[in-house]
Amino acid sequence: MKGIYKHISFFVTGVFLFLSATAFNNNTSLPKEDVNEINVHVESPYFSKSNIKDGPYFFLEDNHVTVKWIYKNRPVERHIYGKNFNVVKRKFGFEFNYDWIQQDLTTEPDFVQRYSNVDKIIALSDVHGQYDVLVRLLKRFEVIDDHFNWTYGNGHLVVLGDIMDRGDKVTESLWLIYRLEKQAETVGGKVHFLLGNHEIMVLNSDARYIHEKYLTTARLFETTYDKLYSESNLIGNWLRKKPVMVTINDMLFVHAGVSEDFVLNNFTRSGTNKLFTENIVGNSWKEILTNQTLSFLMGNKGPVWYRGYFEDTTLTEEKINTILNYFEINHIIVGHTSMPNIVTLFGDKIYGIDSSIKLGDYGEVFIYENNTYYRGTISGTRIEL
Ligand code: ZN
Repeated sequence: MKGIYKHISFFVTGVFLFLSATAFNNNTSLPKEDVNEINVHVESPYFSKSNIKDGPYFFLEDNHVTVKWIYKNRPVERHIYGKNFNVVKRKFGFEFNYDWIQQDLTTEPDFVQRYSNVDKIIALSDVHGQYDVLVRLLKRFEVIDDHFNWTYGNGHLVVLGDIMDRGDKVTESLWLIYRLEKQAETVGGKVHFLLGNHEIMVLNSDARYIHEKYLTTARLFETTYDKLYSESNLIGNWLRKKPVMVTINDMLFVHAGVSEDFVLNNFTRSGTNKLFTENIVGNSWKEILTNQTLSFLMGNKGPVWYRGYFEDTTLTEEKINTILNYFEINHIIVGHTSMPNIVTLFGDKIYGIDSSIKLGDYGEVFIYENNTYYRGTISGTRIEL
């Protein structure tokens, strides 16, 4: 195991940044969702307590691969080696290469996250386990075909965080995004998965918003849900290397937003991505909360929880311009704050693209094509923004 991980340096505990303390919140606790948003125990039509299917969860431990899944409420575990891999692959019906497991586990994260000259972009946010809405949207806008294969060519798909929690098809959603990321790469396209507060909550052992299906899955495996996404788990490891901020052309994508205080403290995109990967994701809340920099980043004015564009009445266009100029961009695209549809704020400077997919019956995608911005509705209509 050591050899495989020798190039990976997660969980660096020291903090090296000196930041001016002007605008830090001295948080004593982490932000919470509104109480009326908590709907973890709502029964969904797809969920039957007596017939849970979930997985697969691949682990690379002690130099061998194990796959675990739940079938009819029973935990199953198999060792995987090259020859029986196809059997497992067929069982779950997805394109997947055995080599990806080791490759992925040794890939270094990219903190810079800057892309230019991208002709077309589709973005969506806050899927929260609503796989069926996700699939409908991706099919409508020809990101995937009927067999779930990437058909978006050299376009970029941005998944703006919060795939996890609330809903009961989180596993399916994660695997679809993972698979599309691989397929897109082969044709010059790109899938960006950005971390939302809910991915970080799960990876940091905060189980408050997990659907009860996954609590049952974890119990059947005699573990906790966060351990199913540990560093040695394929998808868990993949998530841990994901950024919180990416710039494409003149657009900054970030789950919740960048606040004026974030800019005043001179945080950068790559520095922030690095701090999240190395010091926040998978770290203990105690360590995060006792560190001024980390608690700011995970607080109400940090990039995965901020709601100021929607709620702060003191926020002026001038302040938004300061933020845009600081990052040398013209637009910020955020999710996290749920609206009935995609909205524009401060002219066309901010796009709020959390279109309440989490409710399970509607959703929209943000589209950039031919230098024009659209909202794409679930029925396939494009409305220019
Ligand atoms: Zn969120």
